Amino acid sequence: YESNVARTLEKTIAGFMKHEFSVNDAVYRMAAKIGVAVFPDDGTDADTLFNNAEVALKKAKASRDRYLFYAQKMTETVAMSLGIENRLRRALERQEFVLHYQPKVNIVSGRLTGAEALIRWNDPVSGLTLPGRFIPILEETGLIHDVGRWALYKASEDHQRWRKDGLPAVRIAVNVSPLQLRNQNFVAQIQQAVGVAADAAAGLQLEITESVIMQDVNRSIDSLLAIRALGVTIAIDDFGTGFSSLNYLSKLPVDTLKIDRSFVVEMASAAGGLTLVSVIINLARALKLNTVAEGVETEEQLRQLRLLGCDEMQGYLFGKPVPVESFEREYMPSSASA
Ligand code: C2E
Ligand code: CA
Ligand code: CA
Repeated sequence: YESNVARTLEKTIAGFMKHEFSVNDAVYRMAAKIGVAVFPDDGTDADTLFNNAEVALKKAKASRDRYLFYAQKMTETVAMSLGIENRLRRALERQEFVLHYQPKVNIVSGRLTGAEALIRWNDPVSGLTLPGRFIPILEETGLIHDVGRWALYKASEDHQRWRKDGLPAVRIAVNVSPLQLRNQNFVAQIQQAVGVAADAAAGLQLEITESVIMQDVNRSIDSLLAIRALGVTIAIDDFGTGFSSLNYLSKLPVDTLKIDRSFVVEMASAAGGLTLVSVIINLARALKLNTVAEGVETEEQLRQLRLLGCDEMQGYLFGKPVPVESFEREYMPSSASA
């Protein structure tokens, strides 16, 4: 929301600057000062809002700021989100994004079965930044398309290198934003990312949240079919939170259900929590889908999931997301290449 306001302000100010006009052979440009009042915090009726906007405008005129909000805190938040947005625009070309990998392991043998790619931003201003802070801004600005494509390429590249180096080349799962899935060119992008190598597609999995698939389920099915035809597999992320209709679930062209962390947490604490996870696992088994439990943190959770017949697990108990070099060092035995 703050960054929406910020964008409107920037556009308005830029609009003024663009239109020059001439009087007596001299060229002039207009500058703008803006005072902003926001409903309902700064007033619940038009009069109050206008008055407070004027107060903010007077302050802006007297200051070096181009715009000020009636509430000073708002000015600060907006300035900050604009700062982030501008820095994010440059982040891709400056190679500030990195993928960290978190291991997925077989719940019985403990063997490495895959990796989830989780994006991080090496922000020169505030350091390593988690996706919750910047993915929403990438989505609002449309930057997610380029960054998402970069993630697909990077994961594919890492997988190919593992193969070449004789490391255990497990599948890498990449998270997909709703906007990417809706993009007409998405399937073509995936195809480009995996390139021509037949085994490259086998190195990629897409994680798509349940609610996104269910939003427009018929269209999703078409996209998923096209993606799977390439040899790329699909996991439903955050399963259990998106109210899948059972009728559709049986028709979805997917390979894996990822049981949302909230269910894993409630397994031990909430009444019925264990039953819920058991139902999900049995459902998946009936539909011949692979199950991965997310966010496993304790031995007790692991024990219960094992009893319930879950296939794979991922979580801090086994390993946190780490940079690719650490992932190779910690989880890929060097004997494979020696
Ligand atoms: P997600 O796909 O549900 O990813 C799982 C999140 O849980 C990750 O947070 C991971 O670090 C965290 N996690 C893993 N194991 C544990 C555990 O045992 N305990 C706890 N408390 N947390 C655990 P992270 O890395 O901050 O990512 C947050 C979300 O950002 C992801 O949720 C995903 O939706 C999104 N995301 C990450 N990378 C990408 C990306 O490349 N593209 C897009 N579109 N979204 C991404
Ligand atoms: Ca995920
Ligand atoms: Ca998840």
